[in-house]
Amino acid sequence: MSDESLEHIALCPGSFDPITEGHLDIIRRASKMFGKVIVAVSAEAGKQALFSIAERVEMATEACHSISNTEVDSFSGLVVEYARKRGAVALVKGLRAVSDFEREVQMALMNRRLAPEVYTVFLVTHPDYAFLSSSLVKEIASLGGDVEALVPASVLRRLRSKQDNCGT
Ligand code: ADP
Repeated sequence: MSDESLEHIALCPGSFDPITEGHLDIIRRASKMFGKVIVAVSAEAGKQALFSIAERVEMATEACHSISNTEVDSFSGLVVEYARKRGAVALVKGLRAVSDFEREVQMALMNRRLAPEVYTVFLVTHPDYAFLSSSLVKEIASLGGDVEALVPASVLRRLRSKQDNCGT
């Protein structure tokens, strides 16, 4: 990457319900490519979100604490509008499989139409996390499966307390 890119701001947008090691791998790599990375937690995660927006932001903040040039924030509405507001030049997205590709390219082309000056950058997932998604983590955790290596400690704690509160 050029020195110039280190002055640029990038967004890593998502619902982060909850943040996983797969997300963190992408965020860590983006933080080496850009001067600042804003982890942008979408307030519109849908009705099926397990965690509230405040909880999702808190978990992401704790998890990104050790990655120096990151900031965690929430946004609602169009991601490209939020990118413009924050002066971000790029959206960094992770690609896991062909199934991600179709949806992500469609989204990237629509975002390009809406805001041609905001680029979408795709990073291919770390092979260890290619199967990992927030929804799978929630499903496995709710059935009592071990997700310890797949999420940061603060997420694991909260997943366990959700289970305790559900009486499982
Ligand atoms: P999910 O797709 O798991 O519900 P998000 O909506 O929070 O998660 O996704 C935000 C971004 O993180 C997307 O670009 C998605 O492709 C990426 N991402 C999610 N999980 C992984 C993973 N295991 N490896 C790489 N990228 C990922």
